[in-house]
Parts: sequence; structure tokens; C-alpha cells
Amino acid sequence: MMAQYLSLKDEAGEDALLFFRMGDFFELFFGDAVRAAEALDIALTKRGQHAGEDIPMCGVPVHSAESYLARLIAKGFRVAIADQTEDPAEAKKRGSKSVVRREIVRVVTPGTLTEEALLDARRSNYLAALAEAGGATALAWTDMSTGAFRTMPLAAEEVPAQLARLAPAELLIAEDREGPERWSLTPLPRAHFDSARGEAALKDRFRLGSLDALGDFTRAEIAAAGALLSYVDATQFEAGVRLGAPERELPGAHMAIDAATRDSLEIARTQKGERRGSLLACLDETKTAAGARLLSEDISAPLTDAREIARRLDLVAAFEAGPSVRDRLREMLKGVPDLERALGRLSAGRGSPRDLGLLRDGLGAAEEIKARLAAAKLLGPPPILAELLELIGPNGELLAALSDALVPEPGISANEGGFIAEGYDAALDEHRSLARDARQHIAALEARYREATGVKALRIKHNNVLGYFIEVGANHADALMTSDSGFAHRQTLASAVRFNSEELAGLAMRITQAQSRALAMEAEHFQRLRAAVIDHGPVIENTAAALARLDVAASHAGLAATRGWTRPVVDDSDRFVIEGGRHPVVESAMDGGSFVANDCDLTRAQHVWLVTGPNMAGKSTFLRQNALLAILAQAGCFVPAARAEIGIVDRLFSRVGASDNLAEGRSTFMVEMVETAAILRQATNRSLIILDEVGRGTSTYDGLAIAWAVLEAVHDELESRCLFASHYHELTGLAERLKRLELATVRVREWKGDLVFLHEVIRGAADKSYGLAVARLAGLPAHTVSRAGEVLDRLEERRAETGGIAAGLADLPLFSASAPPVADAPDALRERLDAVAADDLSPRAALDLIYELKRLA
Ligand code: ADP
Repeated sequence: MMAQYLSLKDEAGEDALLFFRMGDFFELFFGDAVRAAEALDIALTKRGQHAGEDIPMCGVPVHSAESYLARLIAKGFRVAIADQTEDPAEAKKRGSKSVVRREIVRVVTPGTLTEEALLDARRSNYLAALAEAGGATALAWTDMSTGAFRTMPLAAEEVPAQLARLAPAELLIAEDREGPERWSLTPLPRAHFDSARGEAALKDRFRLGSLDALGDFTRAEIAAAGALLSYVDATQFEAGVRLGAPERELPGAHMAIDAATRDSLEIARTQKGERRGSLLACLDETKTAAGARLLSEDISAPLTDAREIARRLDLVAAFEAGPSVRDRLREMLKGVPDLERALGRLSAGRGSPRDLGLLRDGLGAAEEIKARLAAAKLLGPPPILAELLELIGPNGELLAALSDALVPEPGISANEGGFIAEGYDAALDEHRSLARDARQHIAALEARYREATGVKALRIKHNNVLGYFIEVGANHADALMTSDSGFAHRQTLASAVRFNSEELAGLAMRITQAQSRALAMEAEHFQRLRAAVIDHGPVIENTAAALARLDVAASHAGLAATRGWTRPVVDDSDRFVIEGGRHPVVESAMDGGSFVANDCDLTRAQHVWLVTGPNMAGKSTFLRQNALLAILAQAGCFVPAARAEIGIVDRLFSRVGASDNLAEGRSTFMVEMVETAAILRQATNRSLIILDEVGRGTSTYDGLAIAWAVLEAVHDELESRCLFASHYHELTGLAERLKRLELATVRVREWKGDLVFLHEVIRGAADKSYGLAVARLAGLPAHTVSRAGEVLDRLEERRAETGGIAAGLADLPLFSASAPPVADAPDALRERLDAVAADDLSPRAALDLIYELKRLA
């Protein structure tokens, strides 16, 4: 057996733990055992010796293996499962020393999960592959639990942004290539990324003569898709994982949102990596897991096609206007199980009768929803509704087959039977009733034996070792021991003695036979129904997709109705007009009604807004809320605003000034310049840029200089819509010269020395920076604040003469890369002094020097 183990371990490779099936346990040995015992906090034991050393061992029970797997995967392990692939009885037949055949049936990795217990139901779980071919780059990705499979050609510099959108659980890259650090990487031999090999694999898998039928893939896309397929095969072995044919997605189809922007806007996750507190969490009122996954995708990849957006909005509008239809729909959706993943599990050979039951219930609900919505009286039902209803079904035949065959709540094991309904299969019923009758006969037999022997405590019992047996207390055993009693002795325990009888053996045989026939028949039914489900797979997928879309639209419509959100106008213009906009997350975290709504207009002549005001005034909130409105609108959701008109945003950038601790290692100045350079390179006249406190975290002069230069560059070099927040109110001086710069400020009022934040954004500049009031608010001790006040007074006195820290900037020539640095004026006095060698001076020479210096001064 050790030889078998070592050869399987060899096959699994060093980087995967080998789960070696031994009866009811998966055992781990050697280094694997040490690593797993530590990761799982389970006991490490020893078993036998190898090369004179004890072999470390640990194990997990097969029936609860999933929970251990989940923990190992979460800790970054890969696990190869070596299962017994023959009945131990078979092995025995070959000889008493023969080892049961074992094979690796699967490698469990973060990106290849299909089990419910290992997945988050409300999140897609992507396996992605990054490939290069012919100088181009592409991504391919799949969610094996649902079968979605996509490819995208993209520029190398777009890769991080796309990965940030997908947040893949696992990323495949060629082993000689450096991968992005952020994701869990699985290096594969370069040959797996060969596009000719990929093409062959795709054709083979989807039974195609040519790939043209699927679209115009680039070599890089084919290479990525090929690597993905080869990995699926390498980890899943014989399991028939269901993948849809790859669909192409082009980068321009979605709003480009880079990783930094996603982090700063907390779209699908907060900066801490949690779903709670994100935009997604604040929006998600979906009723189904598939709906939640779709919403997450929508919000992570807002559309750029105004028509497509309008279609989504039409559906939301229809449900918003029809509250009773909406509520009824949501009520019905509540009971819809996860069709996609149940189908995925069944296809992968990991499904159970319960999954058949889920499909029956889900498809049944889908049909009902379809009928209800078709009959519903919605005001001017949009075309998209009819199209979605068209996608549902026809499921009647499969539904009828499942409904007829299954009991109301089928169990999770296909081998234990009990899931096929009574009355479905006459032959099965007969075997079951034979088994049942025989059990009744056994009960009758027990009564008869009691009478015959006079032993009232006589029982007929069953266990897995002996099967059926007759048991009496040790004190009554003698009566049954006689040779003519008809009882044959089987076992003597301390307190009981066990017997058999011919009659009992006959009945037991009938029961076992009937039972095993019945189980075999049920297993056959399971396979047949599973095959029918897989055949019907594409229709189930469409049905699931339509339900998910309805769920998302109904969720949006619910928000619109309860929170007063409105339908945005999204078109190809360059407008950005928001009236009464609110920050959805901040607002929902506050007690009702206290959030102050604000307007914003970045259309053409005022496409750059400089928002000033003291810290805590609400600048960040205002900036972010406008970015979030654009995301929501283009995702096809209503928005928290009285009115919103948004010309499609092709790229969204959000940068928050690096604070000192974020800029570890690199100077703040460098970080901000690099980031700004990236924006200047990538932003177009349709982009939306949000710059929050650029230059923060450096000294005042550096910070102001950075903010100044960046604001000028955005204004002069781009036509993007931009919101720029800063607490340097010196920047407002720029408005005189930058023609398309609009000034805005968040109002505050000083009241008895305290600052009152009004959170109201108005046009114009803040009258001062309120630094001291903010300091007091922040809890700086009173004497320190008053000392700071004295210092400030002195500075302000001088400000009148010098023009403050921005002195001289107002008439600075337009910044340009070639503008010479502003050098200090040469100082003759200092130069002369520097040249003095004091020790060498005679008293006479010193006096001459003083006269000379006086002249220079
Ligand atoms: P700044 O960027 O100017 O430092 P923030 O945007 O971080 O200020 O806002 C500070 C706090 O003020 C937020 O935590 C929020 O609770 C509150 N706030 C901001 N905007 C509003 C608003 N429009 N209505 C009500 N409260 C707001």
C-alpha cells in the first residue's frame, strides 16, 4: 500500500496535499500530514515505518471531508483526492494481499470548486488564465460551478483592472512569467498556453470543425482558453464539468475601473476586503443566490452601451411602477433554489438526489413566475420582459419527469435510496414492499419465538456485522441451546447470547436481496434523471439567467420605491448633471433624513470642479457619491438623486491622496505623480476622474505644489469630467486662469468658536481653511489650540504682505513639462560669506570684510 501511496503522491506533486482514502477516512502521510495537521489543528499520529523512520500520519473522516477541504483551500493549499476506485471485495478476490485500487480522481484548488459547502453562494468563483501570444495579451475565465466561460483580448496594462473586476480565486499563468501578486497564482508549463494546442482543445471540447462559429478569437484568447481547459481536465479527471462555449467580451463593453479606483470606491468590497459596507451590500436586496451573483457582476462591470443600459432600466421602471407585481415576484423568487449550481454539481458528477429536487422546485417556480408575469398587468411592459419570459423554458417535460419520480425532499446520497417516489416504478415498489413485508414477517416471527420459547425478552435485532439475529439474555440462553430447538448459536456476549434460525436467515436474505435490488433501481433512476437534466442543460441555464435578471431588476425597483431613487438618463452626451444626489452607503448608514443632498454639473464649460473646504466638511463624500451614481446608472440601476443625466463614462478613476503610511517606501510625491501620469495617459474626454486631496501627507509646500500641478494638467491636457477636492484654499486662485474650472465649496459655519458642518456644496470658494476649529474638534488640548491661534495670527499678518504660501503662483506661467524650475535668486551676501575662511583672517582683514559685506547687503 505504501508503494501505491508513494506513486500517487508522486503523481499529485509536491505542491498538493494527497488525501488518501482508507475506508471511512482520508489519510495524509509524511510531510503532508505535518502540514495538514498544523493547518487544521488536528492530531498528528504515526503509522508504521519507512526507511527506518516513523511515518507521520493524520486523517479526516470522509463524511465531513468537505469542511476540512474548505479550510485547507482557504489557507491556500491544493488537495489531490485519491479515492478507492474499486470495491474492496474485488481486491480481495485477487488475493488476500492485494491492495484496493486507488486513483487520483480530482485535484481541489481554489478556482475549481463546485461544492456548495466550499463556495459562497452569492459570489462567482472564477478561475482565470492570462496568456500572451503574437505580442498580444488575453484573459479567459470560467466559473466552474455555473459553467460560464469568457475570453477577452486586452492590452497588457489593462490586465490589473480586469483582474480586479473578476477577483479570480485562482489565476493560471505561464511558469516563466511574472504574475500579478495580488491573486493566487498557479504557474503552468508554457506548453499549456500554446494557441495551436488551445485551438485543438476547444474544437474537441465543443465539437466544432472550426472556431469561427464562436467568434473571432485572437491567438492570445485561444491560448488563454486552452490553458484553462487543460487545467480543468488536469484537476477534474473524469468528472464531466459543464462549461458553456466561450463567449467573447471586449474591454470597451464595460466601464474601465482600475484596481485603485475599485478599492477607493469600495464597490463590491470595502478596503478591508469585506462585503459589508460596500456599495454592493447596500444595494443587494435580491432574493436568490444567482440574482446576488448577477448584481455583483453588474456593479463590478457597468455597461457602456446606452441602449443596453436603457433596457435594464426599462425593466426596473416596470417593476417600480407595479408594486403588487413586484412584491408577488419577489415572494415567488424567495423559494427559487440555485439552478445553475445544482446543474453544475450534477454535471460534474458531484450532484445528489437533492439537486434533482432543487431543479424540480426551481423549474416549477420558474414556470409559475413566467405564467404570472405574462398575465400581470404592468404599465407598458417593456420588450425586455417578454424576451426574458421567452428564455424561461420550455421545462415542462423535464419538470414532469422530476416531479413524477421524486419524493418531496430527496436526500443527499444517491446510494442510500429513498428518493424515488412510491408509485413511480412498479418494479421498484414491489421490491420495496417485499423488503417491508419481510420486516413484518420478522416482527411476527419474533412474537412466535417468544411464545415458543417462553422468553419474553427475546428480540430479533440487526447490525452491520451479523445482519439479523435472535438475541436473549444470558440467563435464558440454555433453552435455545438445545440441538432440537431450531436455533443455531452465533455469538455469546457478557450479558446476551445471539442465535440464528433457518427461517430468519431466509427472511433476512429476502430483505437484503429486495433492498439491494431496490437500491440499484433507484441508482439507475438517478443516472437517468441526471442525464435528462444534463441534456436539458442549456434551457436550464437560460431559465436561471432570466430569473436572475428579474431578481436584480425587482431588487433595484424595491430600492427605488423605498428609498426614493430615480431613473437616470444615460446617453452618449458629455453631460453630467446631478440634482439632489446622495451617497447611497453613507446615507443608508445614517438615521433617516439627515443626509444633505447635493447637486453637481460637470457638463462641458465647467468640466473640472475644484471642491474646497475644511477637513470633515464632506468633500470626499460628495466626490464619491458622484462616481457611485455613474456606476449605478451604467449598471442599469436607479440612482439616489432627484435627477441624473449622465453621458456614458468610459473610464472611471478615483485617487485619494496618499497619506504617509500608505506611501511606504516611495515618497508621496512619487506615488502621486506616477498615479497622475497613468490617469493623464489613459483618460479620455468621456472619462470621469475623482481626485481627493492629492498632495495630502506631504509638507504644505509640496502638497500644494502637487495639487496645483495636477489640477492644471487635468484642466489643460484632458477634457475629462473631473472632481478635485482639496483643503488648500489657495488653489482657488487658479480659477481666474483656468477657464473651465468651476469652484465649489462645502459650507461650514463657525458658531461660538465651534465648527458646524452643513455638508452643503455651493458654488464658490471657502473663505478660509478653518484649520483651528477642525483641530479643536479633533480633540487637540485647548492650550495647544490657543497657541496655534497665536502662531496663525502672526502668519496671517505676514500673509497680507507676502500673499501667503501661494505667493507668486498666481502669475506663474502655465505649467508645462518643460517649464524651468523656479530657482532661488542668487544671494551675493551668502555667497561671499560661504567663501570666508574665518580662521585665516587677520583682525585687519576681518574689518575689511565687514565693510564689504555691508556693501553687499
Ligand atoms: P472631507 O472629505 O471633507 O474630510 P468627508 O466626506 O470625509 O469629509 O465627510 C466627513 C463626514 O461628514 C462623513 O463621515 C459623513 O458622516 C458626514 N457627511 C459628509 N457628507 C454629508 C452629507 N452630504 N450629509 C450628511 N453628512 C455628511
